Amino acid sequence: MASRQRGKTMRERLSRLWLVLATVTLMAALAAMAGLDVSLVAIGWLLVVLSAWSVVPAAPDEAEPVAAIIEPHAPRDPLPDVAAAFAALDMPVFVLAADANVLCQNPAAEKSFGSITPGMHLSARLRSPGILDMVRETIVTDQPNQIEHSERHPSERVYIIRIAPIEPAKGEGDMPRLYALSFRDISELRRIDRMRSDFVANASHELRTPLASLRGFIETLQGPAKGDVAAHERFLGIMFEQATRMSRLVDDLLSLSRLELKSHIAPSQRVDLVPLVGHVRDSLLPLAQELGIEIRMHLPAGKVEVTGDRDELVQVIENLMENACKYGQEGGFVDVHLRNEPGQPVELSVVDRGPGIPAEHVPRLTERFYRVSVADSRSKKGTGLGLAIVKHILTRHRARLIVKSELGKGTDFTVRF
Ligand code: ADP
Repeated sequence: MASRQRGKTMRERLSRLWLVLATVTLMAALAAMAGLDVSLVAIGWLLVVLSAWSVVPAAPDEAEPVAAIIEPHAPRDPLPDVAAAFAALDMPVFVLAADANVLCQNPAAEKSFGSITPGMHLSARLRSPGILDMVRETIVTDQPNQIEHSERHPSERVYIIRIAPIEPAKGEGDMPRLYALSFRDISELRRIDRMRSDFVANASHELRTPLASLRGFIETLQGPAKGDVAAHERFLGIMFEQATRMSRLVDDLLSLSRLELKSHIAPSQRVDLVPLVGHVRDSLLPLAQELGIEIRMHLPAGKVEVTGDRDELVQVIENLMENACKYGQEGGFVDVHLRNEPGQPVELSVVDRGPGIPAEHVPRLTERFYRVSVADSRSKKGTGLGLAIVKHILTRHRARLIVKSELGKGTDFTVRF
């Protein structure tokens, strides 16, 4: 546009120069005819014409006004661009018109809430009065709003639902108002919050019980049982047991927190499981003898190597074998199988012939402090954290724990590497 303007000005200047030269030549010819000094008259006339030319401004070209070069354009429909941008988001978004009709939904919204025909009112898909009131308020006030909302179907979910006007780009002129209704899923955050507070409550409860018992015995020893040597002996024994229980719990809690800290670092050592299983069996022999259990080993010939952390794998095998001895005591036998078939993953199974675990408990066994029977676990010096520790270690080792249990027949805990 600027070069067109420059070209026009040059043409105008050249035509004016020709006019000046023609006038000066004419005046010189007239002066010659009148017998005057031609050069003096020509120079004088040239000066007059040139000064007039520099003072008088050039007239604008009316045929091509400058304003006409800026072409006004019609407002563009923003919906395709808005829809394309929201399609890239993984959170559900609906685009609404000013009458709360849904103009489009992104694929995440379709997945979470089902498909909705464009032009349908929002209330056809979301019936919650809280959401509809919020949408109405934003349409009236043009201010963003958000609420927390829980859905029970098809699954339990908690969302932060937000509605905000979509501002048109600068220079887009008068556009119809559009609103983005978005759903931020905070179910997982809520679940983690609940787990954390449950965990603190459980840990405090587990510590409070032995602490309360210790305090009770100390008070008895200081008061009613003062000077009673036999009571002293008995109570000190119980106090020692309670203090040991607390330190077991604190040890397990510390193990869990250490494991959480390094959960994202995969182990890199090569560990032979054969001597590890033998070592754990030896360390559990006194307990097995006390419970009347025979631990039978079924090991392949040669090494069975996996990538792992030696101490952590010892902890896994120890927790599984100790549980099998404690909870499968009635069966009399605990069988430990190590399998290393070509082309198959390495597997370690600890099988007891105890009473088994009711099916409804099996999926929750690895939760912290989850026990089929709290009293049974406590009487067997359990903390409720053993299988949670196993699960953490196996997750870090990219290994799986498979639990199969049959009531009256026993339980099989298999680790698949
Ligand atoms: P605890 O310290 O109570 O033993 P764990 O996390 O090791 O905690 O085990 C959780 C619960 O799983 C136990 O309290 C027990 O009810 C059940 N359990 C674990 N192993 C067995 C098993 N081999 N047979 C039956 N029940 C078991």
